[in-house]
Amino acid sequence: MIAIIKQGVKENQIENLISWLESQNLTVHLSKGEYTTILGLVGDTSKVDIELLENLEIVEKVKRISEPFKSANRKFHPNDSVVDVSGVKIGDGNFAIIAGPCSVESEAQIVEIAKRVKESGASLLRGGAFKPRTSPYDFQGLQADGLELLKIAKKETGMPIVSEIMNANHLSLFENVDLIQVGARNMQNFELLKELGKTKKPILLKRGLANTMKEWLMSAEYIMAGGNENIILCERGIRTFETYTRNTLDIAAVPMLDELTHLPIIVDPSHACGISRLVKPMALASAAAGADGLMIEVHNDPQNALCDGAQSLTPDEFDDVSKSVAKILEVVK
Ligand code: PEP
Ligand code: MN
Repeated sequence: MIAIIKQGVKENQIENLISWLESQNLTVHLSKGEYTTILGLVGDTSKVDIELLENLEIVEKVKRISEPFKSANRKFHPNDSVVDVSGVKIGDGNFAIIAGPCSVESEAQIVEIAKRVKESGASLLRGGAFKPRTSPYDFQGLQADGLELLKIAKKETGMPIVSEIMNANHLSLFENVDLIQVGARNMQNFELLKELGKTKKPILLKRGLANTMKEWLMSAEYIMAGGNENIILCERGIRTFETYTRNTLDIAAVPMLDELTHLPIIVDPSHACGISRLVKPMALASAAAGADGLMIEVHNDPQNALCDGAQSLTPDEFDDVSKSVAKILEVVK
C-alpha cells in the first residue's frame, strides 16, 4: 500500500504519520521526490483503515499495490535507487563495469587482470573464490585463500571487489568484499537471502537459471524485508530450448525491470552467451537497452583458465568492449 502525501506538508506532520503507521506494526518507506512524497507501507496492511488514512488532511491518495513485491516496487520509490559500492555508484545514470576472471587462480593472475581491467575502464574487480560448479570433480575455487588474493588485488589497484557467496556461514569471510554476489544457483536460497538481509552489504543478485522476473524480484524482496536495500540485479541469461549459446540473454528484462523496480540492473553477457566473441555485441545491446552496468569475465590466459575460459575476454578484447560501450552510452544518455 502507498500513501501519497500532499505537496507542501511539513516534515513533522509526515513524521507523526509515520510513527502512527509504525505503531500498527507496519514498516514505512519514505520516498521523497522533487514533487511527490510517498509513504510505502509493508507488512499486514489488511487492517489499515484506508478511508481514515485517505481522509487525513496531509494525505492526497492511498493505493494498494497488487504486486507481491513491495519494497522493490517502483510504485513505492518512483526515483531510481543508487547503490554505492565503496564509492562506486551504480544506478540512476551511474554506469559501472565489473570485470575480472571467473575464478581467482593465483596472486599474479588476479593482480595482473585487475591492473589491466582498471586501465580499460572497469570500476569493480570480480573474482570467484567459492565456485558453484556443476561437477564436484571440477575446480571449486581457492575459497578463503581466493578472497585473500582478491584483497591483495584491491590493495594494489584500489578497486572494490565482488565475489560470490554460497553459504551464509561464510559471511564473516566476506567482511572486506565490497559487493557480495548471489549466483544464479542460489537466487532462491531463501535462508541465505534472509541472512544477507540482516547485513548492510551491497548485494549483486543474479537471476536464477530458469526464473521469472517476478520470482527474481521476490528474492530481492527477501533481502529488503530484512532491512538491506542495497541490491543490484544482474541479468545473466536464462535456460531456453536453445543450445548454441550457454543461456539466452533476456535483454527485454532490462527495460521491463526498469518499469517494475527502482533497483539498478546490470547485465552479464559472459554467462549469458558462454562464447567470448558474442560478449561484445551483447554488451553493446545491454548498454543500449538501458542497463546500469555490465559484468564481464576477463582472463589473462583464457585458454588455460580453470573455469569459463571459452567465454572470457583477453584484457585487450575487454579494452575494445569497454571503449565501444562508452560510445553507446554517449548516444543513449
Ligand atoms: C559467476 O559469476 O561466475 C557465476 C557462477 O555466475 P552465475 O551464477 O550467473 O552462473
Ligand atoms: Mn564464470
